[in-house]
Amino acid sequence: MRPLSKTVLAALEPRELELGLDMGSSHMLRHWRYGRDAHGVAWLLFDKMGASVNTIDEEVLNELADVLRRLLPDSPAGIVIRSAKRAGFCAGADVSRFAGQIDSNEAERQLLQGHMVLEAISELAIPTVAVVHGHCLGGGLELALACRTRIAVDGATFGFPEVLLGLHPGLGGTVRSVGLIPPVEAMTTMLTGKTVHAARARAIGLVDVLTQERHVAAAVRDAVAGRIKRPQPTLRAKVERLPALRGFLANRMRAQARKRARQDHFPAPHALIDLWEKFADRPGAMRNEEIRSFAALLGSRAAQNLIRVFHPRETLRRMGESGKPMTHVHVVGAGAMGGDIAAWCALKGLRVTLSDQKPEAIGAAMRRAAELFARRHLNDIQIRDALDRLIPDPHSHGIGKADLVIEAVPERLELKKALYESIEPRMKPSALLATNTSSIPLRDLAEDLRNPGRLVGLHFFNPVPRMELVEVVAHEDIFDVTFSRARAFVRQIDKLPAPVASEPGFLVNRALMPYMAEALAMLAEGVSGPTIDAAAEAFGMPMGPVELADRVGLDICLAVADLLARKQAAPPAPGLESLRERVARGDLGMKTGKGFYSWKGGMPRKGRAGVPPADSADRLILPMLNACVACLREGVVAEENTIDAAMIFGAGFAPFTGGPMHYARTQGVEDIVRKLMEMVRRHGPRFEPDEGWMSLNS
Ligand code: NAD
Repeated sequence: MRPLSKTVLAALEPRELELGLDMGSSHMLRHWRYGRDAHGVAWLLFDKMGASVNTIDEEVLNELADVLRRLLPDSPAGIVIRSAKRAGFCAGADVSRFAGQIDSNEAERQLLQGHMVLEAISELAIPTVAVVHGHCLGGGLELALACRTRIAVDGATFGFPEVLLGLHPGLGGTVRSVGLIPPVEAMTTMLTGKTVHAARARAIGLVDVLTQERHVAAAVRDAVAGRIKRPQPTLRAKVERLPALRGFLANRMRAQARKRARQDHFPAPHALIDLWEKFADRPGAMRNEEIRSFAALLGSRAAQNLIRVFHPRETLRRMGESGKPMTHVHVVGAGAMGGDIAAWCALKGLRVTLSDQKPEAIGAAMRRAAELFARRHLNDIQIRDALDRLIPDPHSHGIGKADLVIEAVPERLELKKALYESIEPRMKPSALLATNTSSIPLRDLAEDLRNPGRLVGLHFFNPVPRMELVEVVAHEDIFDVTFSRARAFVRQIDKLPAPVASEPGFLVNRALMPYMAEALAMLAEGVSGPTIDAAAEAFGMPMGPVELADRVGLDICLAVADLLARKQAAPPAPGLESLRERVARGDLGMKTGKGFYSWKGGMPRKGRAGVPPADSADRLILPMLNACVACLREGVVAEENTIDAAMIFGAGFAPFTGGPMHYARTQGVEDIVRKLMEMVRRHGPRFEPDEGWMSLNS
């Protein structure tokens, strides 16, 4: 235990000083600082060493136990736990510790120890209060739940994201959450991994007080004095706790979980539902079972692969770290992509000007932006500020002021080039010019530019707010600084940059194309759309290829397919002609209400799926793997990890497999090549294994 030094004091956030801590008597360990305020309340500040966000691990919890042992003999009036990090309370457990950890006995030992610390907090006779600002996730939420009162600061978010890693809460969160709030609400939160915003958390009883930072001290005083009363359980909570109803509710949850993923692919939701169904009446037994079940899931293929994905994700994040932040972005083309890119940038704090040759397109984009901001739970002032940052600019005045101009006009080379001719001379000399093209080679677009080194591809995916990945596209003449600033920009707006070379389709579309092309071939053989989609979804793809083609737009699919066919000089896939006919008829998929399916309200009308031919999943998935290997061999992407991450975050490739390259490696490269050869014999030369497989073997 060492007293706070002057330098550390100087570095402390104003928040802490406002709290009135007696700094002279506060102390600091590696991850926790603590002291008593003038009212005799002990404050524990969580401040994980060497990290910008708090995460929980064994050392953090052991140290917390140590702090409690030191504090309790002095009989504090209450204990407050809060974070000293700006980002939030706690982002959950440190998942990197779980990678490769499949010894369930060791996992159980660690969990048991963690349980004991949280149990000790929950059993303290004095008031315990968690004050939460920013994110409060997973293990962080479990820590907050162990306290008697939870005070949320405006803007806080809560959630149990464990399921996204193939796990469920493991530090008593399953037991405490279903005991605190209506069980179906708690289970839904744990089963979906979705975050709950502060106001909703207050409404469902997850937090007791929602307030602003300046009122936190008063709220803490109220909590310690026992002036904050929890409401009685609602009728809904009582009904959901009836043992007679539990089996029915559990089966309903199972049916929902099965719709999202198969149990053998993704056992976590089912383990959680079993846990609740069997043990909800016996908290002690449920706690023990939670430990056992969590430790068992940790060793599952799904969890280990999903935890592994965390690493490539971090790799992508790191690819965008250096660079001066952009302050002003100008977007040309307010259509489906440009409008949403502009809104997203404004949401992330940038000043954005938006132009289009059609004023009505700008108007529509502004309306969509307002909807997006409301969906993101911004309050009225935040919505107003975000809309203020997004400036309709029909005369393109913003071009001369922007640090980055993003072009998102229709996919026609001549149109884009003519546009560059008019905008390039008006751009600041230091500004970057980015194109959202999905298929035009950048070298063609750069041809007549005065300064081709400032051109970069920023290939956003549709829908922009939901898709985390952005392919950052290089070309022969790009300046290094352009490429690195573009990647930093992608991080600045909280997306993941995947650096790729300007080859047709880049990575994600190039890999998705054979997936969709094979679906066309199967359709031509008479297999129904829903049957093909179901086969892909059973593998773990979030969406079947027929529905995906309709959503992307059949015209766009055709353009990319033609482009790839030209590049590879491959014979057209069977079924390509039927695609061409549909496009010629104007049946372009979701956007025209008709493609392979008919569409209503953004949903396809699908018939019943039949039994797919036995090799359906391999026919759809292996060509995707083949394309990924070709991209690696051609240097479109530099590393296997980048491919895995990009395919998971850009195409939703079954995350529990760890990504296409990891899947290929775990299945065995030789095995995959053998299967491809078999399919060449059965279905044709389009399955020819790429020569890149040879170097993977070595
Ligand atoms: P879109 O047709 O929805 O929108 C294009 C907008 O550009 C229209 O509002 C149009 O009025 C405007 N426009 C046309 N010419 C213009 C000009 N000279 N000056 C200013 N505005 C002009 O198209 P989109 O789907 O948003 O696609 C835009 C770009 O994004 C294309 O390059 C496309 O390949 C790429 N892209 C599209 C998707 C997708 O799923 N739609 C995904 C990734 C990339």
